[in-house]
Amino acid sequence: MKRAEKIKRLRDYCEELFWNPETELVYETEYQLLMAILMSAQVTDKQVNKVNAIFHTVLKQPADALKLWVAEIEWYINTISFYKNKSRFIYESSQILLEKHKWIIPKTLAELTALPWVWIKTAKVFLWIIDNAPFLWVDTHVHRVLNRTGIVNTKSALETDKEAERVITTWDLASLHNTLIFFGRYQCIARKPKCETCKLTDFCRYYKKSTSKKAA
Ligand code: SF4
Repeated sequence: MKRAEKIKRLRDYCEELFWNPETELVYETEYQLLMAILMSAQVTDKQVNKVNAIFHTVLKQPADALKLWVAEIEWYINTISFYKNKSRFIYESSQILLEKHKWIIPKTLAELTALPWVWIKTAKVFLWIIDNAPFLWVDTHVHRVLNRTGIVNTKSALETDKEAERVITTWDLASLHNTLIFFGRYQCIARKPKCETCKLTDFCRYYKKSTSKKAA
């Protein structure tokens, strides 16, 4: 099957399973969202939401972070991993937002990634959520699904990110952004993918490999 056809099948199936999914992160302001994405590295969205249920009562805009000591931010978020670094990131990013952007959250990849500790992935997720920008966030789930289905053949998420931008159309990148993450989280799970209910078995490399092993 040609790659374009595989992408179409994957996109349609993801939309069938997870129609119009929204981010699982809870937020009220764009600033809270950006900080929540930053906090979510190596942590589940549920853990971030749990911490933010209290943290967001004191953190709505960049100025709020600067009213706190870094140690106070640490106190609020100390149940998530790397909380010390993340507390510093929140404080330093808020400082730059105040000094350079007059507290207005920038809306371009270049401006966002110029903020301390806002990586390209963070910026892409943020812009996709607030503007439906045509970016695919290649996390471990997306990297796994695109390789299992044979849409790409790569060794790392970074490589997948570049390859996806090359082979997937802008339109499909935008529509796959969140549905593909959900597909990896809940259907094409790392250890036990739900192949028995999956509609992509006819071209999935992983499925073919695993069934031929069982048959041997
Ligand atoms: S057949 Fe299995 S491994 Fe392949 S995409 Fe579907 S769930 Fe994932």
